[in-house]
Amino acid sequence: MKQSHSTEVVLKGISASPGICIGKAYLVDREGVDVVDRYAISEKGVKSEVKRFKSAVQNAKQDLRAIIENSPTGLQKANILETHVVLLNDKLLYGRTIEAIEKERVNAEWALKTVVNQIKAVFQEMPDPYLKERVSDIIHVSNLVMHNLMGAETQSIGAIDKRVILVARDLSAADTSQINLERIKGFITDLGGKTSHTGIIARSLEIPAVVGLEQATRMVANDDLVIVDGTTGAVIVHPSEQTLMEYTERQVSYERYRAVITRDSHLEAKTLDGHHIDVMANIELPEEVVAVLNYGGDGIGLYRTEFQYLNRTSFPSENELLESYRDVIEVMGTRPVTFRTLDINGDKAMAIDTGFAEVNPALGLRAIRYCLKRPAVFKTQLRAILRAAALGSVRIMFPMISIYFEICEAKRLLDEAAESLEKDGLPYKRDIPVGAMVEVPSAVVIADLLAREVDFFSIGTNDLIQFALAIDRGNKQVAHLFQPLDPAVLRLIKRTADVGRDNGIAVCMCGEMANQPLYTPLLLGMGLHELSMNPQAIPVVKRMIRSVRIADAHAVVQEALKQPTALKVLAVLRGAYGELVTNHRQALKD
Ligand code: PEP
Ligand code: MG
Repeated sequence: MKQSHSTEVVLKGISASPGICIGKAYLVDREGVDVVDRYAISEKGVKSEVKRFKSAVQNAKQDLRAIIENSPTGLQKANILETHVVLLNDKLLYGRTIEAIEKERVNAEWALKTVVNQIKAVFQEMPDPYLKERVSDIIHVSNLVMHNLMGAETQSIGAIDKRVILVARDLSAADTSQINLERIKGFITDLGGKTSHTGIIARSLEIPAVVGLEQATRMVANDDLVIVDGTTGAVIVHPSEQTLMEYTERQVSYERYRAVITRDSHLEAKTLDGHHIDVMANIELPEEVVAVLNYGGDGIGLYRTEFQYLNRTSFPSENELLESYRDVIEVMGTRPVTFRTLDINGDKAMAIDTGFAEVNPALGLRAIRYCLKRPAVFKTQLRAILRAAALGSVRIMFPMISIYFEICEAKRLLDEAAESLEKDGLPYKRDIPVGAMVEVPSAVVIADLLAREVDFFSIGTNDLIQFALAIDRGNKQVAHLFQPLDPAVLRLIKRTADVGRDNGIAVCMCGEMANQPLYTPLLLGMGLHELSMNPQAIPVVKRMIRSVRIADAHAVVQEALKQPTALKVLAVLRGAYGELVTNHRQALKD
């Protein structure tokens, strides 16, 4: 590889998709539509200006449809692009632009640009980073319309015929959908964050990507040599000979790591003394389902369905929900998919229905409480889940159960949803496992009562620790006190597992605690049957399961439960399993 004589520059961004790639930069210009003139339209001309706008929207839709149809791996991206098609019709963008043309009598380009700027300003004020990032979807679709209005040529990413690394201000879902894996090694962008759709697609394509670099398009020129380290979020422009060698080695060892991981990930998670454990995945969006299979997930233990409600201005319809549930179920085949019903507010504020302000949202009208207060919203989702259940292996669970009445009420509404489907003559399945999430200490205290009503418990340690130790899970000041191994937390988990066993129901864990291989023997020793985690954590946890004996783990649990502090529990775990964890880590690196 020919090396540039310029000095090495390191840019730091947000890791969007792991892996390392080294190659020549290819700049994609998406800014060409930024210069827009304003001109007045006569009263008579308004009608035809609106028509011109409508036909540009129509053309933009056709462009998107063509991309969806030609998309090589339809599912991961099609949903996002479908959302873009919907956005094109949205009152927010479509209706307001037409209104601006009519009221202000300005050209369509100017009206569209003004409306987009207003939307941008509103979204940027939003505290939720996920919502903040959704503004990029609006910008992408408005750019598409703008290109059509101005007759500008869009640079097609699908037409790139060299092996390159894309460098762009931002890439839309439509752009990333055209990425040809034979050609594009990876990409870097100025804008975007971890939950931006661009990042999601990069992860599903499994190419390295770094976003949110701010200056990449300014600092990198066409044909510059760049290294993208998607794992750490670093981008090195004009690397020195030494850096190049170092990263080439890292790239080789990362590829080896991936090969070992994927080779092993499909092996059964069976302990040395023959106990099978289900290792499941947590997902937020249907696009992640491919990663679940790649990493060897036995199913989905937690589908955080609320993400489908967050980036929009109206509630999703039953059919819309059903369609996205269907996508997930079809890919998972016979593997179970656990739908966690809408868990909004708390740390995931919703843009719709914000008519109430709460001083203490984590303790407020969230999750099951919200759903019981808004039965119409809840029932729409319950109907969609029951309809989806007819298509595969589906379970349902309710978040934040803190009193007995809530689980009874949730089940009553589930019955009502089933009855209404029966009346409507729609196919559905009512006879599915129903679970309660155990994430509030009161649920542990009344676990024996709850166990009578459900088929399984799923322990959500993220909230359980927050409420048990009174540690706001989002507050950096107290983050050091957020201790999964605290004796109080361990006792809560132990009691839940014991009650589950005594009542003959399964006990799973889907909080982040389940991600840690060092904790795995502790959880198995306490009697958990199933662990659900980020897809990427599945292979290492499975490997750990294959290396331990439940009988030994029981003894470690007894020892751990005697300890008075989290640090001492950690010492017990390290003493028993620390070497194993280190060896596994080392084996993956070698
Ligand atoms: C939890 O609280 O542990 C959990 C899995 O739910 P969430 O993180 O979505 O609140
Ligand atoms: Mg929770």
